[in-house]
Amino acid sequence: MGSLNFNFNKKNLIICSIFIFFIMFFIVFNFSNIISFFDIIENKTFDLRQNIIAPYKKVSNNIIIITIDDKSYEGLTQKFGQWPVPRGVYARLVNELQKQNPKVITFDLMFVNPMRYMKENDVALINAFKTNKNLYTAINFDNQDRRARKPVELPEKLMTSVVSSSKNINFQNDKINFSNCRSILPGIINATSNIGHVNMTRSDDGIVRTFPVFVKYRDDFYPHLGLKTVNAYLNQQYQIYNIDKKSNLLLQDIKIPLDNEGFAILNWYESQNGKIGGFNTYSLFDIIEAMEQNTLNEFDFKDKIILIGTSASSLYDIKSAPTDKFLPGVGLIATFINNVLDNNFILKISIQTNFIISTILSAFIAFGLLYINSTLLSVAFAISLAIAYIIIATIVMHYLNIWIGIILPLLMMTITFIIIYIYKYLLKAKDLEYTYKLATTDAMTGLYNHRYFQEQMFLSVETAKRYEGVTSLILIDIDFFKKFNDTYGHQAGDAVLKQVAQVIKQNIRTTDIPCRYGGEEMSVILSNTNYEKALLTAQKICDAVSTKQFKLNNVVTVNVTISLGVASFPKDAKSVEDMIEAADKNLYLAKENGRNQVGNFAKQNNKNDNIDNNQ
Ligand code: GH3
Ligand code: MG
Ligand code: MG
Repeated sequence: MGSLNFNFNKKNLIICSIFIFFIMFFIVFNFSNIISFFDIIENKTFDLRQNIIAPYKKVSNNIIIITIDDKSYEGLTQKFGQWPVPRGVYARLVNELQKQNPKVITFDLMFVNPMRYMKENDVALINAFKTNKNLYTAINFDNQDRRARKPVELPEKLMTSVVSSSKNINFQNDKINFSNCRSILPGIINATSNIGHVNMTRSDDGIVRTFPVFVKYRDDFYPHLGLKTVNAYLNQQYQIYNIDKKSNLLLQDIKIPLDNEGFAILNWYESQNGKIGGFNTYSLFDIIEAMEQNTLNEFDFKDKIILIGTSASSLYDIKSAPTDKFLPGVGLIATFINNVLDNNFILKISIQTNFIISTILSAFIAFGLLYINSTLLSVAFAISLAIAYIIIATIVMHYLNIWIGIILPLLMMTITFIIIYIYKYLLKAKDLEYTYKLATTDAMTGLYNHRYFQEQMFLSVETAKRYEGVTSLILIDIDFFKKFNDTYGHQAGDAVLKQVAQVIKQNIRTTDIPCRYGGEEMSVILSNTNYEKALLTAQKICDAVSTKQFKLNNVVTVNVTISLGVASFPKDAKSVEDMIEAADKNLYLAKENGRNQVGNFAKQNNKNDNIDNNQ
């Protein structure tokens, strides 16, 4: 009785729900799934930041994309009566473009099967590769079954050495190692070493965010076509690529930070209609038309990087990138090259640094919450801090090209918030409980005080009235207590009072309410208990007190007796006042009859009647 119903209020229910949610979450997902889940959300925050800052980034005018778009695919198929276009057309195009002295021409196209009945076209293209040292093309690696396709031997001139001083990069991962290769015309392989791979990597959610500068094929490294192209543009040549201790791929004064899988994290540009990846884009159809009409000089290709690739939907080279859901592979290469030219690759901070940031933010939340008393203000504080952090993280990505984590800090801030909130709440609840106890109990005996007695008496009588039940009251008074105090002193009296209270508590039910009525008088409210049962309880208490040895100190023990009076609703009285009066009457009778007993007026009258009858 008397405990507060803290466990069932609204706030507690919400907190419990959150906890249950987290527990369910951890049970339903296993640990690696949780990591991957948070990784995917973190990646989404990267995309969000990239989309916010993309409009402020400018692409280089020196990168030009010539695309085989839907218009080219249809137009050229019609024009030449077949697809693919006869390779002699590309050879002619290269020769025409060269007249304007572009720096590099890169085909993000794979010239795979020889063209039947059109051998002279293949020869023309091969010759173009032989004569033009700035002409590049693609090869592609995969993990196709060896039985389905025999892995080809690639010449050493296509391989490269990678010397890494970084302990973090693991080049053994699945995403970078390949067991098979989709070969291209042997004539091209023989004619040039300007061949780079065009593999790409997707994150767990299928979106391309990183760029595989190298892949491994049968334990040898091969550079990406984009890397080869940009090196040609910068007049750089590498027999060996070096990676420093901090996982940066070194290209003279350019540092490309690589992630743990050996990939560069790209900084994306604003995608625009008709401009693949935001770059100057021309349709191959228009270029070929211009070539045939001798108007190519209307385009400016001098000193440019020309990337030729496909974007036609039927040619399946479309990827999803953070700033563009439909980005052709050639746009990926252009983005990489532009990142090299601007030296603005994204550096993702380590999980350790991320954890330190999260801890500091959580500490802020904790201190804020402990010092702010208002719930509304503390929630506002936490949300403001989170939003401020997200804004800072976006600014940092924009100006410093650094990817600081958002999800781990937010998660830790949330958990800290919940824990501190619960802690504060429990403190408050404890405080309230203490105040409540202070207001309802008697400090000396630990019994309920007089005020609480009055409240509960009223409640008990009213309940009995309302539901036509019963309730009883026992009043208790210690015998000759004045004398006891005089003999043994007040301190000894207090000690006895406390022990009598203990005896009372031990001899009643948990639903009964023991109170200190005042002075050395005590009472017990027995709800739902009739007179006879209350009488039994009273007798039990009386006997327990009279047989107990009360300790005054380690040596002296004394005997104490009490007198009791019982009254019941509705038998003896109909109100609280009358109940107390009736119980008092019986108590007085007990004193009269020699103390150490339960006074019983009714029985006394009965006895008297019997005596009368006998007379
Ligand atoms: P009776 O058997 O008729 O009840 O005799 P009594 O001496 O007990 O008489 P009464 O009930 O009137 O006694 C009240 C005395 O109880 C007065 C006081 O000395 C003592 N008393 C009341 N409250 C306390 C207390 O908190 N501590 C101590 N030590 N004594 C108390
Ligand atoms: Mg008294
Ligand atoms: Mg007394």
